[in-house]
Amino acid sequence: MRHVAVIGSGPAGYYSAEALQKQLGDEVRVDVIDRMPVPYGLIRFGVAPDHQSIKAVSRRYEKVALSDNVRFCGNVLVGRDVTVPELVGLYDAVILATGAPDDRPLDIPGGDLPGVVGSAAFVGWYNGHPEFAALGPPLDVAAAAVIGNGNVALDVARILAKTAHEFVGSDIVAHAFGALGNSAIRTIHVLGRRGPHQIAMTPKELGELGHLEDAVPRVEIEDFPPLLDDALLEPGQRKSVTHLREFASLKADKAKTIEFDFFAKPVAVEGEGKVERLIVEKTRLDERGAAVGTGETYAIDCGMVVTCIGYKTPPIKGVPYEEDRGRFANAEGVIGGGLYAVGWARRGPSGTIGTNRPDGYEVAEKIAADLASVGGRKEGRAGLDRLLESRGVDLVTFRDWQKIEAAEAARAREGSPREKFVAIEDMLGARKG
Ligand code: NAP
Repeated sequence: MRHVAVIGSGPAGYYSAEALQKQLGDEVRVDVIDRMPVPYGLIRFGVAPDHQSIKAVSRRYEKVALSDNVRFCGNVLVGRDVTVPELVGLYDAVILATGAPDDRPLDIPGGDLPGVVGSAAFVGWYNGHPEFAALGPPLDVAAAAVIGNGNVALDVARILAKTAHEFVGSDIVAHAFGALGNSAIRTIHVLGRRGPHQIAMTPKELGELGHLEDAVPRVEIEDFPPLLDDALLEPGQRKSVTHLREFASLKADKAKTIEFDFFAKPVAVEGEGKVERLIVEKTRLDERGAAVGTGETYAIDCGMVVTCIGYKTPPIKGVPYEEDRGRFANAEGVIGGGLYAVGWARRGPSGTIGTNRPDGYEVAEKIAADLASVGGRKEGRAGLDRLLESRGVDLVTFRDWQKIEAAEAARAREGSPREKFVAIEDMLGARKG
């Protein structure tokens, strides 16, 4: 028997568990460990609440979780309840699928003023992550600036722009639904330090902005290169840029506007004890396509700044780490010493949910090859259980999660699939129901 521990129950974790099952069949036992009492990581806490079709991928992970040789071990914090070296001692292989939950900081003067919020915190707030429930973003202001031109910036801008009616069918948590319903924000600036051709927004997600009930996107056509240059773009990117060009002809006849500022590099956040304005330097592209400042600056009046400039994996003591890329040092998923990495912990924060699938399969193949001549010497889950019990850890099983899930569905407001528990104690309490 081979014993594998996967740390993290998000897409990368469950795709790895699925791949291990396929590779090793009944010869493997997989424990998927998560610090939360609830599974699915990014699917629950990252994917936007109004993108339920994307969240539906969790049904695939559920099938894996319910199989006999895979176990969910929730409410177990690696580093506190059990250490990585202990796991390496207990399991034949340990896969780090810890994602990239930390914001890259906005390293400019005033970047720490109250009212500057990282996207991990903001997204976690509207998705009911226990750590960010008390964030209280300042929504009593007329304008917000969203920094970044990726899909997370799009998510944040869209959530700020939507009406209560547009959240029907979503699982946005009650505290965010209420606060957004009372929001005074009428202008949402989306800032890219480069131009329309350099956006990292996918067409479907960008296209949504053109169909909002009470908000209209605005772009300045002067920011675009000649139309003929669009032909040089890769087809997906061309589609996104076409959406942007279409936005230029939309009438600004709705209560809210989403203003795209291109060639706009934030250089300072200013205000008396809180965000009042963002100072931006105009840029141009150099020959390598990088943004260089022109020295010309302007101010955007806003009471909130949400930085959507990428994420990083939190380092784990003793595990080699690449600071500049915000991920574990690895060679195609292999860290060494029985440790492997998948997903954003392996690649850094890029790609869609599906990108994690080949990642998991590749690492499972490597583990199967590495364990071909060993195995059977490690204790696996029996050893983990003994350790956790001796430390008084309240392990949450997948059956427990199913009770929590049923309780969340039972208390959902009309039109919503669930009302998530936000406090860990409430999640734990719901197991008894
Ligand atoms: P991303 O796609 O890497 O975009 C980050 C953006 O931040 C880029 O526009 C980047 O500009 C900008 N940026 C970085 N540092 C900056 C700085 N110091 N100042 C100003 N701008 C800065 O990252 P993301 O939006 O966080 O998304 C992460 C991954 O999740 C992506 O693969 C994304 O597609 C995926 N995702 C997908 C969905 C979906 O499919 N619905 C939703 C959310 C996220 P430069 O290009 O100039 O570096």
